[in-house]
Amino acid sequence: MSASPTLTVDVLVVGAGPAGTTAAATLARAGRSVMVVDKAVFPRDKCCGDGLTTLALRELEAVGLRPERVANWQTVEAAWLRSPSGREVCLPMPADGIFAATTPRRELDAALVDLAREAGADIREGHSIDALRQFDDRVDATIGGLGVVTAGYVVAADGMWSPTRKLLGLSEPGYLGEWHAFRQYARNVTGPAHDRLYVWFEPDLLPGYAWSFPLPDGRVNIGFGVMRDGLHSGADMKALWKGLLDRPHIHEALGPDVELEDRHTAWPIPAGIDRAVLTAGRVLFVGDAARATDVMTGEGIGQAVLTGRLAAEAVVEAHGDAHGVRAHYERAVRHHLLADHRMSKILNVLLARPRLARGAVRIVGLTDWTRRNFVRWMFEDEPRAVVFTPRRWHRHFLRQHGTYR
Ligand SMILES: Cc1cc2nc3c(=O)[nH]c(=O)nc-3n(C[C@H](O)[C@H](O)[C@H](O)COP(=O)(O)OP(=O)(O)OC[C@H]3O[C@@H](n4cnc5c(N)ncnc54)[C@H](O)[C@@H]3O)c2cc1C
Repeated sequence: MSASPTLTVDVLVVGAGPAGTTAAATLARAGRSVMVVDKAVFPRDKCCGDGLTTLALRELEAVGLRPERVANWQTVEAAWLRSPSGREVCLPMPADGIFAATTPRRELDAALVDLAREAGADIREGHSIDALRQFDDRVDATIGGLGVVTAGYVVAADGMWSPTRKLLGLSEPGYLGEWHAFRQYARNVTGPAHDRLYVWFEPDLLPGYAWSFPLPDGRVNIGFGVMRDGLHSGADMKALWKGLLDRPHIHEALGPDVELEDRHTAWPIPAGIDRAVLTAGRVLFVGDAARATDVMTGEGIGQAVLTGRLAAEAVVEAHGDAHGVRAHYERAVRHHLLADHRMSKILNVLLARPRLARGAVRIVGLTDWTRRNFVRWMFEDEPRAVVFTPRRWHRHFLRQHGTYR
């Protein structure tokens, strides 16, 4: 049997989630030859709340994703927050454009794979990365079923457990992410959760929370996330999940006829971009592989798409060698995410105290102005730490129109 031929591309992207497909589409449009490998075959599920923040929507719109491409896209009109003491506040989304939406990851990610393919990326599904060797001028990656792929750069978009990171010997022993989250789909929702996005700040989950995100046809994505702070064990989490669904306000929101679909799934959430290795030689880490999720909310689709774009831009725009590309990407990540990460960390510590969480929800609900503007900030229409980073101030502060107008 003859050995498989070596494939050569400008950039190899490992992982076809939101981070990888965005990087691939951006690179292909800039004229680079790109191969994307993913061990999964799409459409595939991903354990997620399926919620899209304004940051995610702005980035997805910019990369060219249209809502019509996702069959079960649901635009969210308002968010309902419940404080640890039971106070509920309704935060209507601004009217001009879309500020929040939900879309099953099975459909969103498949649509992004199609988009990257249409942009010119060579997408290989059902192929896993098995080995990686770095040289001064290239990277050789052994891809199961394909053989050796030689690339100028590798974008590692392979999620929380990043096999690429492991192959480079850069995994942190015992690292399990900053959050741990559970998710399940439910149907036959006849209560208000049918079309309301709920965030429940339960006293025993703080600074974590439970959610119900609406999907079309009376379905919801329901789940909860907690910080990995040693307060909750695995067994405890399972019991919590069962108990949560019986809490009167959650039961009432879902309605009496709700039926849970399939089994629940759990997955860690990496939210430590300040400690993550972002680059190694000719490899750039993006999305969950760069621990880029927001440490306050656990949301990471927007950050995945953003870092995917930034990595692609670094490869295209940086002049000089791999050192220049690495420096360009690290600078861009610092500019866009680091101050916000630090801000989220501080807010998390505050939110962990029921009295402060209660006070925060009360202040948010005080006036029309606080409700309107908090929802923009909560859904990352403005960066978390924008107030403290004058370099990101702009004339349309808290007045930007929404996406997809
Ligand atoms: C329960 C839960 C709820 C969440 N809810 C939300 C939410 O509502 N909104 C939000 O914005 N974020 C949410 N997040 C976070 C969000 O899911 C992630 O931040 C996001 O998926 C990161 O995207 P990514 O492209 O970096 O990685 P992923 O989406 O994880 O994609 C990684 C890809 O790499 C592939 N891969 C893995 N190993 C290999 C290999 N060896 N070879 C080739 N390919 C490989 C995988 O198959 C996968 O397709 C949630 C997370 C959890 C766990």
